[in-house]
Amino acid sequence: MAKKEKDSLPGKQAMPHPFDEESKERLQQRVGRIHRKLLVLSGKGGVGKSTVAANLAISLAMEGKEVGLLDIDVHGPSIPGLLGLKEGRIMEGLDGLEPVNMGGNLKVMSIGFMIQNPEDPVIWRGPMKFHLIQQFLRDVSWGDLDFLVVDSPPGTGDEPLSVAQLLGPGAEAIIVTTPQSIAVDDVRRCVTFCRKVNLAVLGVVENMSGFICPECGAEIQIFKKGGGEEMARQMDVPFLGRVPLDPTVVVDSDAGRPYVYHHAEAPAARAFAGIVSGLMVNETAADDPEK
Ligand code: ADP
Repeated sequence: MAKKEKDSLPGKQAMPHPFDEESKERLQQRVGRIHRKLLVLSGKGGVGKSTVAANLAISLAMEGKEVGLLDIDVHGPSIPGLLGLKEGRIMEGLDGLEPVNMGGNLKVMSIGFMIQNPEDPVIWRGPMKFHLIQQFLRDVSWGDLDFLVVDSPPGTGDEPLSVAQLLGPGAEAIIVTTPQSIAVDDVRRCVTFCRKVNLAVLGVVENMSGFICPECGAEIQIFKKGGGEEMARQMDVPFLGRVPLDPTVVVDSDAGRPYVYHHAEAPAARAFAGIVSGLMVNETAADDPEK
């Protein structure tokens, strides 16, 4: 069957009732084929949440995992730009909506693929966002995935709430912060949110943590260091690692070049690789009851 481009927003289409049995069953079937569901959250914008989500997804794919990256930031989808997929469009295939495929084992889906003019604001109320996120989880042909990484908008609003409800009890949250105490306070709200909606907190990532001078290799503390780690300890949640500031992250992101792929040896890319190997150690332990 020829692929047909989806050219209208899903919120405007006739959809099955979100809670009818058929809809629930289809959602469960899709989500049941995803081994781990990681929801990337932050207390506020600008801390590098989308950067962390994208680079963790790519690092996992570089380890040979089957990975999905879902961008549910309805008001400011940044994943297509970060990965050079601004021209990406959603197609309809035999098994549902087809995600954009990168390098064989990374599948990407974003509201950005549906917006014709990126300058147009998206004005949607909570229930429409719920429908859209449900459609992204239920109707996209994700196939069998080792990891689904979900980039959620900042804060604890409709989108993270909807995705936590739709993914159910198996989902895990990764909370991104910067080291300053003003950012760290927002993380406390995120942890409390996760506890209220029964979302397991996989851990905290401290981004923009120190700057390694490319000339001399010395570490400079631009935004302090360790605030996220200290907060994780106080809130009794795991600390996953810190990612230093690297100007190349900005250059690559603006150019739509996947950073960890193009600069695998840079300190920040090695930090992402370290976080990913931590995730995979957990994975082995979770799969092996002896450990
Ligand atoms: P958020 O999703 O939290 O709003 P973004 O991921 O869009 O944040 O990042 C905000 C800005 O910070 C972007 O310009 C991004 O390139 C930059 N950035 C994120 N992490 C780093 C880092 N470790 N080093 C340098 N710049 C970074």
